[in-house]
Amino acid sequence: MTDIRHIAAASCNYTTFDAVIVGSGAAGSIVARTLAEKGCRVAVLEYGGLVSPGAMHGPHQAAYSKALTSTGAADGNPWTACCVGGGMQFYNAITFRYRQSDLSASQYLGTDMEIDWPITIQDLEPCYSQIEHLMEIGGTNGHASYPASPRGVILSNAMQELGIRPRQIPLAIRAPSNSSGCIKCSACDELVCPTEARASVLARNILDDSGLPGAISVLYGCFVNRIEIRSDGRAEALECYVPFSTELIRIPVERVVICANAIQSAALMLRSKSKHAPHGIGNDSDLVGRGLSFKISGYSVGYLDPADCGSDALASHWGPHATVYTDEFYEHSDVPCRFGGLIYEANLLSPSENIGRVRLHYIAGDEPWSHNRLVLDDVADRYGIPYVRFEYKNSENDHARIGFLADRADDILLHLGARRIEREPSSHAKGSSHLHGTMRAGCDPRRSVVDICGRVHGSTNIYVMDGSVMNFAGNSNPTHTIMANARRMALSLK
Ligand SMILES: Cc1cc2nc3c(=O)[nH]c(=O)nc-3n(C[C@H](O)[C@H](O)[C@H](O)COP(=O)(O)OP(=O)(O)OC[C@H]3O[C@@H](n4cnc5c(N)ncnc54)[C@H](O)[C@@H]3O)c2cc1C
Repeated sequence: MTDIRHIAAASCNYTTFDAVIVGSGAAGSIVARTLAEKGCRVAVLEYGGLVSPGAMHGPHQAAYSKALTSTGAADGNPWTACCVGGGMQFYNAITFRYRQSDLSASQYLGTDMEIDWPITIQDLEPCYSQIEHLMEIGGTNGHASYPASPRGVILSNAMQELGIRPRQIPLAIRAPSNSSGCIKCSACDELVCPTEARASVLARNILDDSGLPGAISVLYGCFVNRIEIRSDGRAEALECYVPFSTELIRIPVERVVICANAIQSAALMLRSKSKHAPHGIGNDSDLVGRGLSFKISGYSVGYLDPADCGSDALASHWGPHATVYTDEFYEHSDVPCRFGGLIYEANLLSPSENIGRVRLHYIAGDEPWSHNRLVLDDVADRYGIPYVRFEYKNSENDHARIGFLADRADDILLHLGARRIEREPSSHAKGSSHLHGTMRAGCDPRRSVVDICGRVHGSTNIYVMDGSVMNFAGNSNPTHTIMANARRMALSLK
């Protein structure tokens, strides 16, 4: 069994670890597991603590720092979630694979940055399959698909009547027919699943080293502030602090793998300025933090008369946040620049809010531009850690693409009989839970920060293996791909 404890309660000899991983989310956990499968002893350092079943995302995250946004206000969100297991503890379990077009989007989009990934979809496929097996994703490896919700059924019918192909979302949630399946206890958004029906790092034992040749120790309550490097660029130690303590801990490292999310990983590299890395680690080409991608997204809510659609479909909603989607406009000649994204059912947070309403979400990958970035502000928090500041603006093309998807969502809601449609303003420019692109991958150090295996150019033992290395954010929800790519990179580690 993996040792999971607060760092203050740990008495480790840190020099015995083959690798230290920063962040215990989807990426860090699969990297830890993959290295333990290879016989390594790994430590995972995690800022947040353990969350309880039923905990809600908003109240949990209220304890963690905000980012400064272009308005100058501290109203940005630089995290997915801070806890053992990361954002996946609260996620909606929408588990798409990416497509080749996500990895070679330069056929549709053009910016001042590298857009194509340095790998193909075939490189990810074995890892996708292994993760589908570990996460018990519906519709794969004999796991039952989660059935469409009553709202999902009427949405599918409306889409079909409009000639739009409806599909069932691959969910990492055990179907209710399973003896340990979903009990539909809530609207399932933004909360830690009270049973183990919904997959997470902990519910699917990703960090459990039982039966593996290596070992995993998770030390939480530990914020990694800086990486200390030698003159040859090699990482020597991590400088960490424990919240509410003024004591700094110095952890020597043989190898460090950063998986803190695309904002926090880049911020850590920028904080690690020293005489050997005057602009921060990996930042000789001024690329760390640039190309920040949050995805473009929005919601449309249709207000219906319950008598129109049958009471079940417009009653309170219990069960997964989303069950039905369409990818009709992923690549489509009607979409501006022919590259769209997804539209899917997106039920509101509390079951009763959904009465008489149907809500759709649309998302697509945003164009990566070098002026979209995070920087460290001059203002620091009470521990002396500089605040993260976002400089982020969507392109005209981004607006045109998401506008097209919003119009198609409205068509579906109107066809369902919506008397009124409200579009919820998107606040993704203040940070989203889909974080990508701040440490791009490639062969040329002038155009990328890490190589194809996640190794920081110019270093022999510093790696980045999370959404930071994704050159285009992709048009789908990213966690499955973040995990598959992290595993691919971890498998290549010697
Ligand atoms: C409410 C919600 C719903 C979502 N639904 C979906 C969905 O349905 N499908 C989907 O694909 N994605 C979804 N996501 C996004 C998903 O959670 C992320 O894609 C995923 O968590 C990314 O994993 P990660 O390991 O890269 O980063 P994270 O999960 O953010 O993990 C990073 C970890 O690093 C820790 N950390 C950061 N900085 C430091 C530091 N300096 N020192 C130590 N530790 C540090 C953080 O505390 C965190 O635990 C959702 C997210 C939220 C919040």
